[in-house]
Amino acid sequence: MSKKYWETLPQGSVVLEAGNSAKFKTGSWRSMRPKWIEENCIQCMFCWMYCPDMSVKVNAEGKREDFNFDYCKGCGICALECPGKKGNKAIVMEEEGK
Ligand code: SF4
Ligand code: SF4
Repeated sequence: MSKKYWETLPQGSVVLEAGNSAKFKTGSWRSMRPKWIEENCIQCMFCWMYCPDMSVKVNAEGKREDFNFDYCKGCGICALECPGKKGNKAIVMEEEGK
């Protein structure tokens, strides 16, 4: 594999093609990952609203499903905002790879 130098890398902060963010899988450099605890989930969708990477999957019935780990970068916002059920969080952050 040939090395890329700064002169040959694509310019940052420039949208070269509409919708190209789908090609950049931001989950590859995650150090923490959210874990969904379904029994504590009240389907409030706060996690879906707050996620900056649209990484909370929603099914055809409008119900929350597990995360899309291709794009989740492990920021933890979903876990912070999740109210959970009776004080028990439905999202907890774990170290990646554990
Ligand atoms: S950890 Fe961050 S990027 Fe991943 S699902 Fe939660 S809010 Fe989205
Ligand atoms: S914020 Fe928590 S309780 Fe609300 S839908 Fe997401 S996981 Fe479920």
